[in-house]
Amino acid sequence: MSGSESRAQAVFQITNSEPMSVKTPKSLNKIWATDVFTIAKMEEALSSKAYKALKKTVETGEALDQSTADVVAAAMKDWAMSKGANYFSHVFYPMTGASAEKHDGFIISDASGKAITEFTGSLLIKGEPDGSSFPNGSIRVTNAARGYTAWDPTSPAYIMHTDNGATLCIPCIFISWSGESLDKKVPLLRSNSAMNEAAQKVLKLMGEENVTTLNSSCGAEQEYFLVDSNFANLRPDLLLAGRTLFGAPSAKGQEFDDHYFGAIPPRVQVYMQDVEERLYRLGIPAKTRHNEVAPGQFEIAPYYEAANVAADHQQLLMTVLKNTAKKHGFICLLHEKPFAGINGSGKHVNWSVGNSTQGNLLDPGKTPHDNLNFLLFCGAVIRGVHIFGPLLRAVIASAGNDHRLGANEAPPAILSVYLGSQIEGIFDQIKEGKLDHAGEGGLMDMGLSQIMPFAKDAGDRNRTSPFAFTGNRFEFRAVGSEQSVSGPLVAMNTMLADSLNWIADELESELKNNDTTAAVIAVLKKLMQEHGQAVFGGDGYSSEWHEAAVKRGLKNLPTSADALPYFKDDTIKALFSSTGVLSPIELESRFEVYSEQYVLSIEVEAKLVISMATTNIYPAATRYLSDVSLAASSAAELGIDLDKTVATSIAANTNGMMASVDKLSEALAKEDHGSIEEHMQFCANALRSLMDEVRGYADALESEVADDMWPLPTYQEMLFIK
Ligand code: ADP
Ligand code: MG
Repeated sequence: MSGSESRAQAVFQITNSEPMSVKTPKSLNKIWATDVFTIAKMEEALSSKAYKALKKTVETGEALDQSTADVVAAAMKDWAMSKGANYFSHVFYPMTGASAEKHDGFIISDASGKAITEFTGSLLIKGEPDGSSFPNGSIRVTNAARGYTAWDPTSPAYIMHTDNGATLCIPCIFISWSGESLDKKVPLLRSNSAMNEAAQKVLKLMGEENVTTLNSSCGAEQEYFLVDSNFANLRPDLLLAGRTLFGAPSAKGQEFDDHYFGAIPPRVQVYMQDVEERLYRLGIPAKTRHNEVAPGQFEIAPYYEAANVAADHQQLLMTVLKNTAKKHGFICLLHEKPFAGINGSGKHVNWSVGNSTQGNLLDPGKTPHDNLNFLLFCGAVIRGVHIFGPLLRAVIASAGNDHRLGANEAPPAILSVYLGSQIEGIFDQIKEGKLDHAGEGGLMDMGLSQIMPFAKDAGDRNRTSPFAFTGNRFEFRAVGSEQSVSGPLVAMNTMLADSLNWIADELESELKNNDTTAAVIAVLKKLMQEHGQAVFGGDGYSSEWHEAAVKRGLKNLPTSADALPYFKDDTIKALFSSTGVLSPIELESRFEVYSEQYVLSIEVEAKLVISMATTNIYPAATRYLSDVSLAASSAAELGIDLDKTVATSIAANTNGMMASVDKLSEALAKEDHGSIEEHMQFCANALRSLMDEVRGYADALESEVADDMWPLPTYQEMLFIK
């Protein structure tokens, strides 16, 4: 079957397929967290002594003793086996950003050869996967492969079902034999502790007597595309790179703004509801769903949770989105830029910090000017973004996210903070050493008797800001859709810890001569004078801002090749060492792993560009050229002069494309890159522009070659046929 016949068949199949049978939705309280070994289930299953010990660990992070672990393991096994699980798996989060799992059976055989089951505290606490195939930077030489997974009791165990079985999944950390973190969870847990310690100091200085453990919270909005798998299976680029490396724009794109919040296509809604049911069973509070800006693009956002649990749930959510899509005949694309010319996908990470005694410390309340704790924590964030902006940029660096940042569809690669007019006004006053009553949001009264007046927010939204205050939290909007939220959360918690430590020192000395309000104003005045230039409320897309930002000393780091080297920067190293979140070796290893992944991703794409241009596009173009030429000579025999423009243009584009393919092959073969930094720059610039060059010719050919000869499903088909 020729490529074009497969395309026609794909359309036929989609048109004639029956939608997946719709299940009657189960009521939420019947399915909620049925696949999770929740605290409530533990309370039922454990002795009250064991339960108390475990609850304390979950709430405060305090160590658990071996005998309690044994009791918990036994209860966990009984529960899992009652749900049909014969296997358990330590699930961990290596630096690849994916989730990893190694499955083990509960089964052992006794002396008489009878199968019995066993799951001890030791098996629960510690696993020992051969870690040598996971990226580790230069932490371990290849023959030093020992790695450990260790149970994280603060993130609940759960069951993953397949059609004919179930597995008990236990969230874990992943470390090397020498104790270094090889994963994304350890730094997140450490960053929470560092933030808590620093926050405790500040709150005690502020006269708070009862201060429980502080935790960070995260609510992540996930954008994704759905493409029918009949089409996706015909696109090697979608299957291997997760994005289209070729494709002429569809005549209609997103210019009518008719997709955003539009009616969800029924087939997609059936899929979404299936996803939500799976998530509910896993105790993931899926809350919002809607169409996104681009055709074929959607969003799901769960309600926010403690950052560590939210991070594990985010990984699960991505897995569920992908697996469920297959069942519904879709492929779910989490890539940051699956299609050129229309919006890509991001993951907005909403983040706040708080505890049960002081509440959310980023909530300004009704009278923010009176809320000194809020002002201190908000000021701490401003200082953090100013000093560690390049770190925030580095933790969202990836080959995929490069396509969004700086492309005027996502926040720019310059890190600044948006506060909204009310809070910005307060900090402007503080800079002058004053703190007066601030303007409030007021009421929205439309003067229509049918419409009840409601309270307005104190500030508008700013979609061009990478880091925006949104009422009671900050929203880090530049995170890539495919990325783990852990890196961004680690960076935010750690920069906050550093700022709060600084504030604690300053506050302590100011309090010697001042009352609390005067001391807070003095500390924040100094903070704003030094770091206020990170606050920006204007249009982040404008070229004026790009110039002004540089004048303010803010870094513009357009590509990951520019951003990743900041992992080696002295300021960043000092931040992580002083807070105990990452040792210099661990930080260095992260630089190496992420840099290598960046280079590999672009090189794989370059290889795909070469093979698709050569084996899919060139044959189609030459076949069509031969048809057109034949038509011209047959016409000439009849004395008809057929215009040669099309044939000439196809020939020129085909030759141009293959000449660029040669240049790209040659560039890809280059081996003598002096350093990984230079190699990244080479990929970001030389390879990417050659890939674009090949694509330019190929996309021109797509608009010239007869549609029935074109081998690859088109943008129009992939984006609009659902
Ligand atoms: P938006 O209007 O920004 O699109 P969404 O409702 O799609 O908002 O998503 C907002 C996300 O922020 C949700 O996950 C929500 O639970 C989360 N969120 C709300 N309050 C907080 C908070 N205090 N801390 C962290 N996340 C929060
Ligand atoms: Mg949003």
